[in-house]
Amino acid sequence: MHIQFVGATREVTGSCFLVEVGDRRLLIECGLLQGSRAHERHNADPFPFDPRSIDAVVLTHAHLDHSGRLPLLVKQGYAGPIFTHHATTDLCAILLQDAAWLQEKDAERASHERGGAQPVAPLYDREDARRTQERFLPIQYGVRTRVCEGAWLTLRDAGHILGSAIAELELVEGNERRRIVFSGDLGHAGAPILRDPERVTQADLVVMESTYGDRLHRPWAATWREIGEIIATARAGDGNILVPAFAVGRTQELLYVFSQHFEEWGLGDWQIFLDSPMAIEATEVYARHAQVYDAQAREWHADRKRPFKLPNLRLTRTAQESMAINALRSRAIIIAGSGMCTGGRITHHLRHNLGRASTHVMIVGFQAAGTTGRELVDGASEIRVWGEPIEVRAKIHTVGGLSAHADQDGLLNWYRHIEGRPPVVLVHGEQRAMNALADRLRAELQAEVTLPAFGEQVAL
Ligand code: ZN
Repeated sequence: MHIQFVGATREVTGSCFLVEVGDRRLLIECGLLQGSRAHERHNADPFPFDPRSIDAVVLTHAHLDHSGRLPLLVKQGYAGPIFTHHATTDLCAILLQDAAWLQEKDAERASHERGGAQPVAPLYDREDARRTQERFLPIQYGVRTRVCEGAWLTLRDAGHILGSAIAELELVEGNERRRIVFSGDLGHAGAPILRDPERVTQADLVVMESTYGDRLHRPWAATWREIGEIIATARAGDGNILVPAFAVGRTQELLYVFSQHFEEWGLGDWQIFLDSPMAIEATEVYARHAQVYDAQAREWHADRKRPFKLPNLRLTRTAQESMAINALRSRAIIIAGSGMCTGGRITHHLRHNLGRASTHVMIVGFQAAGTTGRELVDGASEIRVWGEPIEVRAKIHTVGGLSAHADQDGLLNWYRHIEGRPPVVLVHGEQRAMNALADRLRAELQAEVTLPAFGEQVAL
């Protein structure tokens, strides 16, 4: 039995781990590399294994850095099952279709740039994504499931996004038995809607994420106060509030928090728009899976039936409805994608609102270097939207506490509950974050910590 680390080694994206037990091969995650264009080009590199030789795939959650190369795997001949949670199956139906559509558009653009003489093929297309969806075998949390000969899987709630899971894998070869726990992405305890990451007590080896291994989040109460204050200031100045938000997770958290603070924040006096067809679809998926909410959200759901449905929320699906929002000069809260302002409908709202000092932009998610969102956070006085310069007179607020990932304390506490403090392998983090977390794991919990390099193999 062994495990090979073929993705998310000393970086955050592209999660992919190959487990071999006897003559069976299991793939845990099959994520896209995300970041600069040069880095993303590596998505087209051949897999370091034959996709046809894989017996089963386990997916922890729907985010593309974990799921986004599954259509490529299927395109290259993978024909087995993909085990994951029901909600992840539903979210992937949205995210993989969208990812495929973006791949098609990118390929079209590249073909056009080459003058059309040599058409560029997309990494995968919507048909590949549809065929991938057919391979999903949804399961529930806590149900032990045989995934192939010699391997059983139990999913535990990771509290990161809807359907996210910690994957517990029991491997059997002859008289040997091993329990490997993949943390997936661990959630931020106390986050709205979702339960806290479930504790795992038994493991022979832990493969753990380390995204925020060097950071501590601020308390939730301070974050809610901050949002309340931004809304109050925008109201006093008679402006609009723009919220660039990721379609899955952050959007639903905001709607839920708005519904909880509706009176306190005077939200009844605003027009609120969810201006993203993808976010609208993702919200419908969240609404369908109330069984995985935390106790508070379940209660809320039971009382009001629809925790994401504010009385003055408008879901704008068509481009015309979206354009009509441009006429509003005050008391409009506009939630739109993309989350880093790199495209999508938020760009036209920025174009119409950034020039006014009464506008407030509420940044609620991570902004990668090189994105328009990051330029705003860094205080740019001018940005470019569709090549056109736009003066920034609006106030930009960075609400930092809304992370969907556990911080350093959260990661350490989760590991602390595993009996016998088994060896831990850190993945899914930048070098600095990994080092900081590894130092604390070694010093405080005497853990044996490994930071694997790409392609490294560990015997189990
Ligand atoms: Zn994630």
